[in-house]
Amino acid sequence: MADLLFAPCKEYNKEDVKEALRGICDLSWVREGMKVAIKVNLITALSPDRAGTTHPVVIDAMCDLLLEQGASVVIGDSPGGVWTAAYLDYVYRATGLSALEREGVTLNRDFSVKTASHPDAKIAKSFEYTGYLDACDAIINICKLKSHGMMGMSAAVKNMFGAIPGITKPQYHYRFPDPRDFSDMILDIQSYFKPRLNVVDAIVGMEGNGPTQGTPKPLGLLLAGENPYQLDLACCMLMSIDPEKVPTVEAAIRRGLSEKDPHSLSCYQDLLPFSCKDFKIPPTTKPLTFLSEKGVFSKLAGPLLRWLLLSRPVVRKKSCVGCKKCAEVCPAKAIEMKDHLPKIDRAACIRCFCCQELCPKGAMKVRKTLPFLK
Ligand code: SF4
Ligand code: SF4
Repeated sequence: MADLLFAPCKEYNKEDVKEALRGICDLSWVREGMKVAIKVNLITALSPDRAGTTHPVVIDAMCDLLLEQGASVVIGDSPGGVWTAAYLDYVYRATGLSALEREGVTLNRDFSVKTASHPDAKIAKSFEYTGYLDACDAIINICKLKSHGMMGMSAAVKNMFGAIPGITKPQYHYRFPDPRDFSDMILDIQSYFKPRLNVVDAIVGMEGNGPTQGTPKPLGLLLAGENPYQLDLACCMLMSIDPEKVPTVEAAIRRGLSEKDPHSLSCYQDLLPFSCKDFKIPPTTKPLTFLSEKGVFSKLAGPLLRWLLLSRPVVRKKSCVGCKKCAEVCPAKAIEMKDHLPKIDRAACIRCFCCQELCPKGAMKVRKTLPFLK
């Protein structure tokens, strides 16, 4: 398997992006008449300058390269929310994708849902997914590099969770509340679809209150490779984050799919100058496996330690507009609206951070109960 490649690219200028992609993407496998799905990140209806979704110029440039090879393209993703034509059209407009349709390039409008059987999976042996991915000969996964409330980082591997349709996503959070299980599930999805190529849009990433309400962070890079685990390891390095603190990367290391040290990357030295020492990430939830064991210690100390050590969602009242979106998406039904403000039942909360991810005003924050604990 070829190593990952990267190219500096400072701006979303189509010709520059196209040349950068041409240099780092191996598309020799693309054949005349192939139908290729580009699985992008369309988490919600954000304009491209918010840096929460894959930038349309990167997608547009990749479409050009595929058309040149004689392929046709379907661009798709399932945002958080309903999996319907009306909602997707709204998201396509907001994210700048509507302008990309042309001969040979379509935006997905197949809303079928299929059930996967994945006997080799570690945890998700069966799951529902967006059917449009089946209608294509190959998948190219183009993600955005972002901070993430629950997972610390969202890059190549996490992006494939968007294959789970709309409102089914919170159900999977509820089914796999432990970040380790949740990460194993995402790795299972990744191994089921096996994208032929993975690309990271890190020209401008997102830091802080990601994955939707953070701050744009210019990194000036595009990365590509067949191996999504290598790409995620490189992204940890770019964000100066310990790979073992990112649950999806930790799962890949545990399952022997990834090295744990970014020094193992062949491009380590060349990538080093792009590493960002001050990249702001939300307090990550370190997997506390000892709390899920059945010992006496765990039974006695578990609830108190959980309260002290884990991150949790907190409402910033000044920013909240009382829209109830957080209560609607909460898979644990842990949020009740009182006096137009969300009230969180801490005992019921599973810390999935769907409320933080989908709050349109950035009013839901991730906080450590004891902020000095890293
Ligand atoms: S989604 Fe955000 S703005 Fe809406 S009620 Fe919840 S916290 Fe407030
Ligand atoms: S309150 Fe937020 S973090 Fe807790 S379960 Fe509900 S959506 Fe998840």
